Amino acid sequence: MEKCLYYNQEIYASDVHEEFSLQEKIREAYREHRLFCSSCGGEVLYKHCTERESHFAHKDNTGKCEYERYFKTVKKRSDEAKKIITTFYLQFKDKYMNYQINRDVRLVSKHYTDISIETPTKTVAIEFVNEYKAPKYMDEICKAYEDTHLGYIIIVIDEYRGETIESDFNYAKRYALNKGNGILLLKSPNDNSIQLIKQDKSGFSELSVFSYRTIFSDIDIIDNQHYSDDFIVAYNKFVNDREIAYKKQREEQRIAAEKERIAMVAYIKSVNDQKCSTNNQKTAYGKVLNDQQVACESRRKEQDLKTRKQPTEQDYKVKLYSMLEKCHYDEVEHDCKNDRQKARDLLWLYRYNGYAKRTIEKNLGDLIRDLEQEEKEP
Ligand SMILES: [Zn+2]
Repeated sequence: MEKCLYYNQEIYASDVHEEFSLQEKIREAYREHRLFCSSCGGEVLYKHCTERESHFAHKDNTGKCEYERYFKTVKKRSDEAKKIITTFYLQFKDKYMNYQINRDVRLVSKHYTDISIETPTKTVAIEFVNEYKAPKYMDEICKAYEDTHLGYIIIVIDEYRGETIESDFNYAKRYALNKGNGILLLKSPNDNSIQLIKQDKSGFSELSVFSYRTIFSDIDIIDNQHYSDDFIVAYNKFVNDREIAYKKQREEQRIAAEKERIAMVAYIKSVNDQKCSTNNQKTAYGKVLNDQQVACESRRKEQDLKTRKQPTEQDYKVKLYSMLEKCHYDEVEHDCKNDRQKARDLLWLYRYNGYAKRTIEKNLGDLIRDLEQEEKEP
């Protein structure tokens, strides 16, 4: 037990441990049977320890003392944790010399508060928990404090393990991160450091908790709502840096997206241009082909006109003569019956060419007579 009653005054074992004169006084009081349990009233003695924490113990332990039972069951703690609480108590006494500092005090029913600090305007309860404290216990004591409108601070005895997001923490720590001022006080069991941890809820990135390592003398848990000015300055910088980094990232993403969009537009345009130019090429090519065809056609017609001589009178007479020579009389008859000019050519040959006259008379006599008859009857 941490405390006893001496002439109705509470004496703390940690104070006796620190101060030899007090220890002398307590030993004398014990001999005079003047040390009593503040809870059951039984006689107690002081046990000065060097390895463990110095403490008071019932002279006749009946196991019925509520105070003793509470710390053996509900607040069962390691020697290490007890030592840390005592260290805090002694440091609080130094730091808040004008305030009343109490230990194992009953502020809410069925519960002993580890340390309370009474200022002229308020009482602040300080609870020490280790990381394994059950959520039910946390809920019950925190609700009890809230119901009595007492200020309370939870100090978790544990190492900071580099957690970066709130959900990495266990219930007791998450409780501190989400309630009140949202600052988790973490006391390392292995050195003098205290970690102040606060969650940035602005959600600028995955990383969401800011951790600040300091020592006890730099924090003020009573009069500073953030416990430390340096801490809150660093925290604000952390939040601000995250916001800047977030905005920078967003801006970079926006620029990248814009670049991509521009590239896409350019790509679509190039595809369209290509299609267009292919169509134009096709049209132009078609036009060239068509022009060439037209030109070719007209050239051929011109050529035809030049090369294909219209058969002249003379030409046919020559052909007629040749046909007569080759004895193609049927062909001659056919030509002359259907073409008056050709008929006139035949008559010309008959009249002015001796060889033709004889051949025609012999082979085409009837035709000549018909033609001569036709001449007379226009
Ligand atoms: Zn007792």
